[in-house]
Amino acid sequence: MTLEPPHLAILIVLGLAVGSFLNVCIHRLPLGQSLSTPGSRCPKCGYALRWFDNVPVASYALLAGRCRKCRAPISIRYPVVEVATMLLFVLHGAVFGWTALLVPRLVFACAMVVLFAIDLEHHLLPDVITLPGIALGLVSSAVLPPGLMDAFIGVVVGGGVLWVVSEAYYRYSGHEGMGGGDIKMLAMIGAFLGWKLALLTLVLSSFVGSLVGLVVILGRRGGMKYALPYGTFLALGALTASLAGDAILRWYLSFY
Ligand SMILES: [Zn+2]
Repeated sequence: MTLEPPHLAILIVLGLAVGSFLNVCIHRLPLGQSLSTPGSRCPKCGYALRWFDNVPVASYALLAGRCRKCRAPISIRYPVVEVATMLLFVLHGAVFGWTALLVPRLVFACAMVVLFAIDLEHHLLPDVITLPGIALGLVSSAVLPPGLMDAFIGVVVGGGVLWVVSEAYYRYSGHEGMGGGDIKMLAMIGAFLGWKLALLTLVLSSFVGSLVGLVVILGRRGGMKYALPYGTFLALGALTASLAGDAILRWYLSFY
């Protein structure tokens, strides 16, 4: 679908602004801090950021990635999350057009960005995102695609498959392989995208996860520990499924 220039402009500005808020979520949710107060501060010197220190991407570039007051380096994560969110907004706009379905898919994409970043840094997928996410996905799917039944099966199948895998692994090896966070996250993906795209997400994330795991194992010569948590791959798989899943499934089914 083609985007009208004004819609494209709205998505770019909104994507950068929302990305800036997602940075706050990524920083504060794992610490159990409030999202609204206090305002942003430099973690090193406590300098309270003014509005012009908080302009997405531009402030980071102008300050050369350092605090205005104490020159402590600011994480590259801030501009990266802002630009990634903006690109996801534009891509979703290009795929779904200026439609009602664009709204829940943008909300979903934001949740995936936050889960990706928090899992990467803390190996944690907070319930405060995944559990309301399951509810929100079901509500949205009741009135928009994929439809309530498809979404409900998505929650059961998505969560169920990972639950079975983690139970089997636990009984076989005696220690926990996958956290409950992954189970709730794939249930949430099923609630928003439906069971077909939830299964596609599972396939995509396992494939990419295995490839990366293999590279890590080869690179470390015997270090069998995974460098990246599974939630990061689930997030990447889910975003791919949201944007291109229907096309991928059509292509796959064309072989039968
Ligand atoms: Zn500072």
